[in-house]
Amino acid sequence: MPECLFCKIAAGEIPAEKIYEDDSVVAFHDINPVAPVHVLILPKKHYATTLIMSEEAPELFGSMMKASSEVARRKGIDESGFRLIINTNKDAGQEIFHVHMHLMGGEPIGRLRVKYR
Ligand code: AMP
Repeated sequence: MPECLFCKIAAGEIPAEKIYEDDSVVAFHDINPVAPVHVLILPKKHYATTLIMSEEAPELFGSMMKASSEVARRKGIDESGFRLIINTNKDAGQEIFHVHMHLMGGEPIGRLRVKYR
């Protein structure tokens, strides 16, 4: 998608602090972290929402999950723990309409709080 920020980051056209990349997935640090570790994991190919991706390429969720484990290991929070969140559409607060998973950790998060989106 020509005007999609995350497509441009995935393609290397806009810089980001990448921490992981494979054939189908890329991960980089969130520009506005809400936890000591806050990484975004996304498919390189554009899908606006989980609703669309689960119809057209459900296997990419598996690729994103595999990447999340590697990111957690690389950030040293695999044992201490982390939270994964994907926002879909307005009420969830989705701002960027290119599917992405938030990986957050690095401190005790406790129970689910709105802060950790
Ligand atoms: P969401 O609300 O789930 O759509 O999350 C969008 C996330 O993208 C937010 O946490 C933003 O801080 C993050 N974000 C926006 N622009 C950038 C960027 N250029 N590089 C890294 N993260 C970004």
